[in-house]
Amino acid sequence: MDTRIIDGTALSRAVRDELRGRVETLKSAGVVPGLAVVLAGDDPASRVYVRNKGRACTEVGLHSEQHDLPASVTEAEVLERVRMLNADPRIHGILVQLPLPAHVSGERVLRAIAPDKDVDGFHPFNVGLLATGHPAFVPCTPAGVMRMLDREGIDPEGQHAVIVGRSNIVGKPMAMLLLQRNATVTICHSKTRDLGAVTRQADILVAAIGRARFLTGDMVKPGAVVIDVGINRLPHEKGKLVGDVDFQSVLGRASHVTPVPGGVGPMTIAMLIENTVLAAERTVKKT
Ligand code: NDP
Repeated sequence: MDTRIIDGTALSRAVRDELRGRVETLKSAGVVPGLAVVLAGDDPASRVYVRNKGRACTEVGLHSEQHDLPASVTEAEVLERVRMLNADPRIHGILVQLPLPAHVSGERVLRAIAPDKDVDGFHPFNVGLLATGHPAFVPCTPAGVMRMLDREGIDPEGQHAVIVGRSNIVGKPMAMLLLQRNATVTICHSKTRDLGAVTRQADILVAAIGRARFLTGDMVKPGAVVIDVGINRLPHEKGKLVGDVDFQSVLGRASHVTPVPGGVGPMTIAMLIENTVLAAERTVKKT
């Protein structure tokens, strides 16, 4: 079987090109959509993500600002920064890059973000709206996966979707979105028994584990759609980036697969921009 490699970079570019028109309309109404990214500490991977997000925003015409805080920052200082951004009318979206330093509660910080500026969709209010089928902001990575499936003409309805990983930022919202699109959803995690027996039932298999090349071809049903969310850096392979799927062993077996890099990652950024544009559009509608 020929496996189609889904080009997330090209899809992301197409989505961002479409967003330019919406940004122009906002600008003609006197609104420049603004995103603030708060980065605490000096995690090198986070720095790269934040830089890429800022660059992508600027390219589409958004105002983007980065708030760098030292690793020694107190929780009170992070909360104060979030409150300041909540009150800033130039800022429509706030993203706090995770992970935060160990002494800062990610949960308390995420809860401090105004729900109508929560473009990551991690605030419990937005999580609840998603769970009840009325999403305001959908978390960017699972939103990006759904957009990919749509653009590839893959309809989840009636399909068995298996998600490996149950994090709040990827696995759980991914499950909600697939369920809303009428897939039959199974969520696996580290305590799942005989993982391969479950993954081999998947028509759509989503890997969000954080373990390099963990899902191998023999764990994939022939003809399945394989979505690799994982991003793992291999220090012993010159820092090479690989996914949670063993890409080579899936080729020729899956009907579709997303590469790493160039798969889900770029779609995540496109969805972040879309959510920020949406947040700005809502402020215009309110006035
Ligand atoms: P987490 O570490 O929060 O969650 C990992 C999940 O994988 C957990 O639910 C865990 O189970 C499960 N897991 C771990 N080991 C196994 C195993 N042996 N068998 C089955 N399940 C297992 O990670 P995230 O969800 O934050 O991220 C997952 C991956 O996606 C990472 O590589 C991350 O870098 C990447 N990522 C990529 C993004 C993108 O834009 N492409 C955005 C966000 C993340 P348990 O709950 O039982 O511990």
